[in-house]
This record gives sequence, C-alpha cells and structure tokens, in this order.
Amino acid sequence: MEVKTSLLDNMIGVGDMVLIEPLSEDTFIENLKKRFDHNEIYTYIGSVVISMNPYKSLPIYTAEKVEEYRNRNFYELSPHIYALADEAYRSLRDQDKDQCILITGESGAGKTEASKFVMSYVAAVCGKGQEVNKVKEQLLQSNPVLEAFGNAKTVRNDNSSRFGKYMDIEFDFKGDPLGGVISNYLLEKSRVVKQPRGERNFHIFYQLLSGASDDTLKKLKLDRDFSKYNYLSLDSATVNGLDDAASFRTVRNAMQIVGFMEDEVQSVLELVAAVLKLGNIEFKPDDGCHISAPVCSGVLVCSVHFNYHSYHLFHGFSFIFLFLQDNSFEQFIINYCNEKLQQIFIELTLREEQEEYIREVSNSHLCLLFASFYQSFPFRAVIVGTETILKVIYVADFIIVVILNPTTVYHNAENYFSGLLIHLSTILVYICPLHVFCCLTVYHSLLNVVYVVMAPPTAGFQFRASVGTLMKNLLTKNPNYIRCIKPNDKKAAHIFTDSLVCHQARYLGLMENVRVRRAGYAFRQPYEPCLERYKMLCKQTWPHWKGPAREGVEVLLKNLQVPAEEFAFGRSKIFIRNPRMLFFLEEKRRQ
Ligand code: ATP
Ligand code: MG
Repeated sequence: MEVKTSLLDNMIGVGDMVLIEPLSEDTFIENLKKRFDHNEIYTYIGSVVISMNPYKSLPIYTAEKVEEYRNRNFYELSPHIYALADEAYRSLRDQDKDQCILITGESGAGKTEASKFVMSYVAAVCGKGQEVNKVKEQLLQSNPVLEAFGNAKTVRNDNSSRFGKYMDIEFDFKGDPLGGVISNYLLEKSRVVKQPRGERNFHIFYQLLSGASDDTLKKLKLDRDFSKYNYLSLDSATVNGLDDAASFRTVRNAMQIVGFMEDEVQSVLELVAAVLKLGNIEFKPDDGCHISAPVCSGVLVCSVHFNYHSYHLFHGFSFIFLFLQDNSFEQFIINYCNEKLQQIFIELTLREEQEEYIREVSNSHLCLLFASFYQSFPFRAVIVGTETILKVIYVADFIIVVILNPTTVYHNAENYFSGLLIHLSTILVYICPLHVFCCLTVYHSLLNVVYVVMAPPTAGFQFRASVGTLMKNLLTKNPNYIRCIKPNDKKAAHIFTDSLVCHQARYLGLMENVRVRRAGYAFRQPYEPCLERYKMLCKQTWPHWKGPAREGVEVLLKNLQVPAEEFAFGRSKIFIRNPRMLFFLEEKRRQ
C-alpha cells in the first residue's frame, strides 16, 4: 500500500501544507507554485482541499481516476478533489452523517468546475439502476441549464456564475440519490439590460440566436444577428472557446432530461425572445408613454405557463455555494455572506480539531492543546459596508459594522452578527456565546470592539434571513472544504502570479488554517497504514507484526527512541506533534 509518499515528495512539493518546514507565507506560496508547475493542482491542509485552477484540461478526471480514489483513505493517494468527494460520500453512506461541501474562492478560481467534479464523482460511485440513473442524470444536467441562464462572460471569467447556488441532494440508506433541491441566491438581474464593457449578457441569449433552427427563430420572430439587439453588447459577443450553438443543443437536451415538458421549453424560449425584443423598444422623448419603434407585434404575448416545480426536480448531502463578486449593495451582502461562511469555516475547523482530539486523545492533553489553538489565532478585521472589503479585510484588529439608524441597530446587529450586541454609544460590545469549548469562546472574545454607522437596506433582510437559515443548516452537517485559487488573472495556463495567489490565500485564511492544524498535533494517521509504512525500521515489527497495529506502532516508536511527548496515541490514530518527526521517519526509511 502506498502511504503518504505523494504527500512528502520534495520534487513536487508537499501534498499537505501542515508538513511544510519551516512554515511561512513564502514557503506556503512556494509549495503551491512547485505543485502547480507539476500539474499537481490539489494540496491539502489536513482534510481541506486547496484547488489551483490549471486553466487547461488535465487527464485527472477519468473513469480510472474515479476507480483509483474509490473507497480509499484520504492519506493513501495524491491529493485530489475525488478523495474529498469519496470521504464525504462514504461517511454519509456508512456512518449516516449529513455532509456539506463548501466551495469558496474568487471569480474564476474554479468553484463551478469543482462542484461539477464532485457531483460527477459521487454520481459515478453511488448506486446503479434505472431510477437512480435517472436521478443522477437530472442532477448532472441541471448544470448546463443553470449555467445557460445564470452564467455570463465577465472580464474575470468566461463562464462566471452570476448567482449563488445551494444544492441539497438527498440519499437513501443505501447511499443512492433520491433527488434534491437547488436554491439560487442573488441572480444578477441587472446584467440583462446592461453589461460592463468587455462582458456579455447571460449565455442563453447568444445560445438561442446561434443554435436554434431557422424555423424556431422564425416562430420566435428573432434575427440571428446579435447586432440587432440592444441587450447584446457587441464588443464581446463571441467568446474564445465557447461554442454557443453547440451549447444551445446541450441546454435544450438538458432541459428535457431535467424534466421540462416541450411546451415549457417553448415558453422559456419565448420569454428569452421577449426579453431581447423588449430591449429594442424605444420611448418617444416628448411622451414617455409612446413606444416609437415596436420591434414586432406579439412581443409580449408569450405564455408564461411553465411550471416552476418541474425545475425543482431533484427534490441531505451536499451544499454547493457559489458567489458572484461585483456591485455595491449586492457586494455588501455577498461580503457579509462570505464573511459568515468564513467565520463558520473557522469555527467548524476548530470544532473538528477539538472533536477529533476528544474522540481520540486522552483528556490530559486537551487543556494544553486548546491553549495553543488560542495562541495561533490572529486577530481578524471585518469591515462591512464599504466596497473595498476584500482589500481591507485584514488591516485592523476589530470588526467595524457600518449602520445608519441606531434605533434599528440593536435588532439588526443581532441578526447580522449573532453574538454581537449594541452598546448605548453605538459601540458594539461582544458577548461571548455559549460555546461548549472554552477555546472558541476565547477566540470569539478577540473580536471585541465595533463601530456602527449605516443602516442595512431592507432589500437585504430577506437575503440575510435566508443566509441565516442556510448557516444554521450548515452547522448541523459535517463540513468539507474546497478552497479554490486562481493562479493568474489572465485566464491562462502555466502562469503563476505570486502576489495574486498570496492575496487569495490571505483572504481565505489558509495560513491560519495550517497554524490551527499544526497548533496541536500536525499530523495524524490511523495505526494500520502507519505501521505498514514504517515497520521496516524495527526488527520486532518487520516483516509482520502479529498483534494489534496500535501496539506495533508503540513498539516501533519506542525502538526508534522517539521522545514520548512527540506523540499521542489516539483510539484509532497516532498523532504526531511536529512535522519534523515525520521527516525523520521518512529519512530513516530511505537509509
Ligand atoms: P465565478 O465565481 O465567476 O463563477 P468560478 O470560481 O465558478 O468563478 P469556474 O467557472 O469554475 O470559476 O472556472 C473558471 C474557468 O477556469 C473554467 O471555465 C475553466 O476553463 C477553468 N477551470 C477551473 N477549474 C478547472 C480545472 N480543474 N481544470 C481545468 N480547467 C479549470
Ligand atoms: Mg462559477
């Protein structure tokens, strides 16, 4: 059995960031770069997957790869998004634990692609059979439909999702998908009427004009020529590498699979056509009520009878949560939401660490460990209500909440940041939430003082409420994280811009993540593979150890005279405090 070799291969960098020695931002970025140069786009921080967008297709998503990762443990093979998908799916199926997969990263970092790889992996390894296959197909084919109507070419991404997506898939006790629900958040509707320079409208408009038959276009009274429509910006009507006509066929087919009836598809296309024509209506300047150039009769006589329920076909395993990036107010709540996710990420990472220790390690180690978590957490600053949030996020040592109306502040702020309360002087004072673990409480109390300036617009309330529900929901599931990073802003393969990667790593809080992971025991491994890999280093364990693997590992370490404080014996795993110890063992193996 190959164990962890790929995680320690110096040529291609280390596969798990907790093993970097010494750890600094520079070595962190250098490691990502080294791996990127070798087409190793995935790197772990413990069980978190960092995914670098290669901007080229790699032969790592084949059926063979699926087989390779199937039913294997995380640490056995090179880092891969399939390993995370497999782990999540298996603990759902075998341990009945609800899972969520959170995919984050900036525009163009690869979230949508990552979500598709996860979905196709799960589809490949879960049950077979006619009914199940139908559900899987529907699940997978929801992507082209959603992308046609919700994605557009932007300056940052030729296939940018202009909405947030949450997908809930339900599985039965055998692990077969029963169905699911997809919710969308904050579709950037304004794009329909106006697109920034160099960007396009939603794909569907171009797809329809390029791919529909002459007959269909005639029925819809549409012209194939993009330039006839005000809503279709001309400066970037076609996109390199995007075949709108072929995509149209894919989308039509997908709509059918997802469950749209033919008359419903027609209705949708009529709506799309109507929108295009609406854009060409001009009003007489002297009389706003008169339309000077009705494009064609019957524009608005389109029957809107398609049934929304058919769209919710997949009627809990994964959430896939993607965010659009630009615009002020939208940006404000998106930032809020991203911040909330980030906060949850930190909480859950800590919780997971603690739970694993509690499960595995004896109580005597815990107090010390929690203290070191606390030390390893830097102050974080969150400035809400400015458009530059992404840039200033780490500059200060406190949260600033910008709210206008102090009378509503009390409630709003409470909703905004659970656990935060307003003081009379509009300075927010943090109240420790009732956390089970003292270390979380200590961490929270670091986020202490808060200034208050501007009221949250009411349009955001509903969104906030739904985010709140989502967050609560997320906290009930076992989290799995994919942190996407783009290597350059040229949408190009082979270019790695250090400063850009560094910025994203900071925003995603990846260094803190590594520090937390290393604060206690940096590395852990079940006893069997550990013994398997290192048993050659000791006469008593080589070639076969007859007793329990745990005892074998104990004998092995004693024999190698490794200081006792470097290890903790968990119930099922050995915990290694310092990555150097692992290198020592590896070195011994090579001798
Ligand atoms: P947005 O927030 O704008 O929706 P995103 O994070 O969803 O961005 P994607 O659309 O997933 O970004 O990725 C952008 C592009 O990068 C893809 O269209 C694809 O060309 C490329 N890409 C991303 N991930 C991979 C990958 N693993 N392999 C090959 N190409 C990839
Ligand atoms: Mg996307």
